[in-house]
Amino acid sequence: MSEGQQDLLTGVPGEPARIRAELAALDELIGSQPSQARKLAHELQKQAEDLGDAAAVASSLIWQAEAAGREGHQATAAELVNRSRESGAPLEPELVVRGAWVMSRVYNDLGDQAAALECVMDAVAAFGPEVSRRLRTRVMLTGADLLDDLGAREDSLIWYSRASELAEGDIHMSILVANNRAYSSLTAGDAADAQAQAEVLTELSRRHNRPLNAGFLDTIANVHLLSGDPRAAAETAQKAVDATAAMDTKVADAPPEYLLTLAVAQRRLAQAAEAGHTLRRARAACGPEGHGRVKVRILEQEAEVLADLGNFEGAFHAYKTFHTAYEELLSAQREAAARSRQTLFETDKAREEAARYREEARRDPLTGLRNRLYVEEHLNQLLEKADSIGVALIDLDHFKSINDTFSHQVGDEVLRVVARVLQACVSEAGGPPSFAARLGGEELLLVMADAARGVREVAERARVQIEAQDWSGLTPGRVVTFSAGTAVAGPGDTRASLLSRADARLYEAKSAGRNRVRGH
Ligand code: GH3
Ligand code: MG
Ligand code: MG
Repeated sequence: MSEGQQDLLTGVPGEPARIRAELAALDELIGSQPSQARKLAHELQKQAEDLGDAAAVASSLIWQAEAAGREGHQATAAELVNRSRESGAPLEPELVVRGAWVMSRVYNDLGDQAAALECVMDAVAAFGPEVSRRLRTRVMLTGADLLDDLGAREDSLIWYSRASELAEGDIHMSILVANNRAYSSLTAGDAADAQAQAEVLTELSRRHNRPLNAGFLDTIANVHLLSGDPRAAAETAQKAVDATAAMDTKVADAPPEYLLTLAVAQRRLAQAAEAGHTLRRARAACGPEGHGRVKVRILEQEAEVLADLGNFEGAFHAYKTFHTAYEELLSAQREAAARSRQTLFETDKAREEAARYREEARRDPLTGLRNRLYVEEHLNQLLEKADSIGVALIDLDHFKSINDTFSHQVGDEVLRVVARVLQACVSEAGGPPSFAARLGGEELLLVMADAARGVREVAERARVQIEAQDWSGLTPGRVVTFSAGTAVAGPGDTRASLLSRADARLYEAKSAGRNRVRGH
């Protein structure tokens, strides 16, 4: 991370700060209006690009990814997260967590719950006090849902409890946690816990005067069904249906899921004709496409209703329709999963390529050594991490006259030979994180990450080897030599202070007659 980026992270006033604040504010919007949030995030991305604020660009990509995922475009979400990661720009922990969480939803949608859980674990690993409680709650909740799907019900209950603790004081999240836990208990057939959660939901809504939305009402209706109270189920399902009708006038009818719950309750109440009518509504609400899974369950219920009504021939045909739809659903799901997997595979490949380009951009093409960019990125980092760093600044002696006497091409070849010797000496002394670099021209650098390995000795060994090299083929009548200045980092040393000490000693070596190493 360069110093410039660090400044951005710690909060530069003005435009970058405004962009960050506006990105963070998307959290309010993204749940209810993801497409709007995505547009705003895209707009902020362009503004950040104009400012050259790479970190804000990377953040805006994560927000767009989340919005895309919420809109059901999982492949796009994965691509956007990868683009953000590939940019290499530093992300605040909040956005690292958010990106991992978005990826977990991508994999979950693909039906790969194990991979999704791994992403949740990545998100949890990036938890810190600076990560908002709401986001941590979401991650824990997703983890709980996944553990439940994977059949680890006991673990999932622990995660639901953690999520519920984290959600305390956040009514929106508390309701969501209770809802999902109720749903998980429903599928597990745990009527007692499902009921307990339904009561939590109802109580939170009553106490904080927050009307439950249709989805939560539908959960409660299903809990009533499981606990054998079809009357309460029908009543609550009806409320869910009415709530959606009141909410959005553009939609022709309530979502098919809620109508289906109502129909099942009506069947239990022996109201087969009403159930038949509700199911027709549900089927119409599915429209020509989508709602695959619900549609199949509606067809199944329609067959059951016909059987309830004594119409066995109709029921038989309805069952056949149901089975065909079921097969189609399975193959459509398999196809969708394969398509998304292909996309993920391609973005993985793109990421590998980007990593390769990044690596290439940090190597000197002539010698294959690390370049100045690499030094800038790594030397400060090494100074912070490793306790003893030594550097040797190397400059070839009278290199200009080698070019002049032979040719520039010969000069290039000399540089390659010297680079090979330096690289071999570093490798011999232990290799990474120590490295050899070409800073430019005929100026080279050794960075030894463990000064105990003796940077001065390594430089001296290289000097002797180069002097002893058989140069008769390349530079007949001339022996190539270099001068070097070495320095070992002390407390408070920076890249600049360390290199300038080495440079002063290099100057001494040159003045003292060249072909020597000065320093300690
Ligand atoms: P000194 O011993 O004082 O270092 O003398 P010098 O001739 O090496 O010093 P100076 O800095 O005057 O010359 C460096 C030369 O290196 C000048 C330039 O022609 C040559 N040079 C720089 N980059 C390259 C390169 O990529 N390939 C080749 N062949 N020569 C280069
Ligand atoms: Mg020079
Ligand atoms: Mg030179």
